[in-house]
Amino acid sequence: MKYDIAVLPGDGIGPEVTAQAVEILKAVGRKFGHEFVLHQGKIGGCAIDACGEPLPAATLELCKKCDAVLLGAVGGPKWDSLPGNMRPEAGLLGIRAGLELFANLRPAVIYNALKSASPLRGDIIKDGIDILVVRELTGGMYFGHKGRLRQEGMPEAAFDTETYSAEEVERIARVAFEAAMKRSRRVTSVDKANVLESSRLWREVVVRIARDYPRVELNHMYVDNAAMQLVRNPAQFDVILTSNMFGDILSDEASMITGSIGMLPSASLGSGKLGLYEPIHGSAPDIAGQDKANPIAAILSLGMMMKYSLELDQAADLIERAVKNVLDRGYRTGDIMSEGARLTGTREMGRLIGEEIEKIG
Ligand code: NAD
Repeated sequence: MKYDIAVLPGDGIGPEVTAQAVEILKAVGRKFGHEFVLHQGKIGGCAIDACGEPLPAATLELCKKCDAVLLGAVGGPKWDSLPGNMRPEAGLLGIRAGLELFANLRPAVIYNALKSASPLRGDIIKDGIDILVVRELTGGMYFGHKGRLRQEGMPEAAFDTETYSAEEVERIARVAFEAAMKRSRRVTSVDKANVLESSRLWREVVVRIARDYPRVELNHMYVDNAAMQLVRNPAQFDVILTSNMFGDILSDEASMITGSIGMLPSASLGSGKLGLYEPIHGSAPDIAGQDKANPIAAILSLGMMMKYSLELDQAADLIERAVKNVLDRGYRTGDIMSEGARLTGTREMGRLIGEEIEKIG
């Protein structure tokens, strides 16, 4: 099969980690006989320098024509003084909106070899953690009606509105149930239905959609309890389905309990197969250009691309297994280094994972 992949390396360590993910893509192509045609595009600071804006129209057009988008990271001190809508990060919001990506998928996984990196106690994570947070990305309070109230004689006030249509809940719920079908088939829908009307609608719709997925077990949890359960007993979760704001908070909490930002991938999906895949970390200007960045988050983002946009589940499994094997053999980049492990740079880590892909499967 032939696939068109847009590659947007971005700034800082973005190009370094993306280069390693591209090497893995080539290894997967050789292994399975697929042709991946790469199309390079600019986003973020490098696009501001070259074209005067963080998301040039040509980049968005390119992405729309491709099967999937691989993005590195954007931003850096060079562009920090620019106004908000001209900053590199505006490119990220622009591409998510431009591609109509309403679902954000963030796995939080603890690898056996890296258990000591978690801030949680050993007995809490002894059974491992493998959670997928499915967050609604384009609705809810962040996009609802908001404003300031200024009335003579009254203290200044402000409001933000949480609004969800049944249709918005339905489409994100379907993403969560479909993802659960590829995993352990459990969905925890997180809301605040004891207080919020929008959460009560959320729950009704999720219950209705669940009927289409009889093999998936559904339970509901209030968001305050979910925040607590994530640190008390994270192994109970498979897929967490939640709204934009609750997902923003819970996905950060879930990623922190794994202990390493350089390991965590993400996917943003819309109603079609096109998706945007990127590490959750930023451009890490402090280590850029020094061959120190961990490329695993970018490589695992590629794994998610195989699973969710290209439906190459075997290739996705192979990438995950290759990463796990290299970690089990004791190789570490600086951010996940521990006593007795073997320190590698960005390129060597990529090369080791690529070799593992050639070897196994
Ligand atoms: P950051 O994620 O870039 O870095 C935080 C810390 O984690 C740094 O110490 C960094 O060295 C380390 N780190 C991050 N990724 C790593 C990796 N792959 N391997 C090893 N260490 C890694 O966050 P920040 O410092 O707050 O932001 C730096 C820039 O990135 C800012 O301009 C910010 O706006 C931007 N940013 C971009 C994105 C994105 O592109 N999605 C996300 C967050 C921040």
